[in-house]
Amino acid sequence: MKPPPFRYAAPASVDQVVSLLAAHGPEAKLLAGGQSLMPLLNLRLARPAVLVDLNRVRELDYIREEDGQVIIGAMTRQRTAERSPVVRRRLPLLADALPLIGHPPIRTRGTVGGSIAHADPSAELPAVLVALDGSVVVRGPGGTRTVPAAEFFVSYLTTVLGPEDLLVEVRLPAHGDAGTAFLEVARRHGDFALVGVAVLARVSENRCRGVRLAFTGVGPTPVRVPEAEEAAEGRELTAAVCAEVRTAVEARLQPDSDIHASAAYRREVAGVLAERALRLAVQRAREVE
Ligand SMILES: Cc1cc2nc3c(=O)[nH]c(=O)nc-3n(C[C@H](O)[C@H](O)[C@H](O)COP(=O)(O)OP(=O)(O)OC[C@H]3O[C@@H](n4cnc5c(N)ncnc54)[C@H](O)[C@@H]3O)c2cc1C
Repeated sequence: MKPPPFRYAAPASVDQVVSLLAAHGPEAKLLAGGQSLMPLLNLRLARPAVLVDLNRVRELDYIREEDGQVIIGAMTRQRTAERSPVVRRRLPLLADALPLIGHPPIRTRGTVGGSIAHADPSAELPAVLVALDGSVVVRGPGGTRTVPAAEFFVSYLTTVLGPEDLLVEVRLPAHGDAGTAFLEVARRHGDFALVGVAVLARVSENRCRGVRLAFTGVGPTPVRVPEAEEAAEGRELTAAVCAEVRTAVEARLQPDSDIHASAAYRREVAGVLAERALRLAVQRAREVE
């Protein structure tokens, strides 16, 4: 199928984007890499009157370090982030996650901001944002605001972004001193995963510190499991502690069954992945200690 007719705008600056969104409100839709939006248009699940193409807005394409954070412009391609030495050095969890997104041609077009704004609960980047307690900077009718990750994702494909909001950049705390792992189970390489987990841990005096676990594919948004994080916090990662982490994950998660997998399967896979990813993150943390 082809998309329904729409008017097309190709602004060259953030100011122009904001003006266009203010003029057209809910009639407008932003186009970033198009890797999620174009299929929705072609299937006529989205019918915007005006498509506002962000691809000429060069000022949204950057990766820089500032005050212990790495700041990534919304139009930075996923593949650019994947190849960035700053990301590899300062954001190892993001570096773990990026190669798991689809295939290289998808990452070559798909953007960091587009993935987070789209808020697919099976997507990797929203889970990274939540695991790291990062934030996003938004330009809207009331000016610029910073939204913490914990407040950004509302439900399935839904965030706090309004129709006149532009996601400008993503801010992630640098964690090059931590061990990280992103593990997932997908039916085929490159498919959206059934379940995934982002894990970050530091190790000092053989004990886990600052443990974070965020899951994909087990609810309408990325899900943190504080009980599992607390089960490992300040403790040596023994088999008994791993079992506690797994039990906490399985007790807390309430995934839905769907055509791809049952709730019970997803819950069990989440527990197994949590243990494996935590072991791997702790092993990597020892290497950077
Ligand atoms: C075959 C295939 C496999 C894929 N596999 C995966 C996968 O395994 N994991 C995964 O995470 N993703 C996967 N994707 C999706 C891919 O990561 C997309 O790139 C991403 O979801 C959307 O980014 P985009 O830049 O293409 O955004 P677009 O598709 O252009 O936009 C997506 C939505 O976000 C909005 N939007 C975009 N940018 C902004 C902004 N700056 N401010 C406000 N709103 C904005 C748009 O209006 C639209 O509603 C896959 C896609 C395909 C086609």
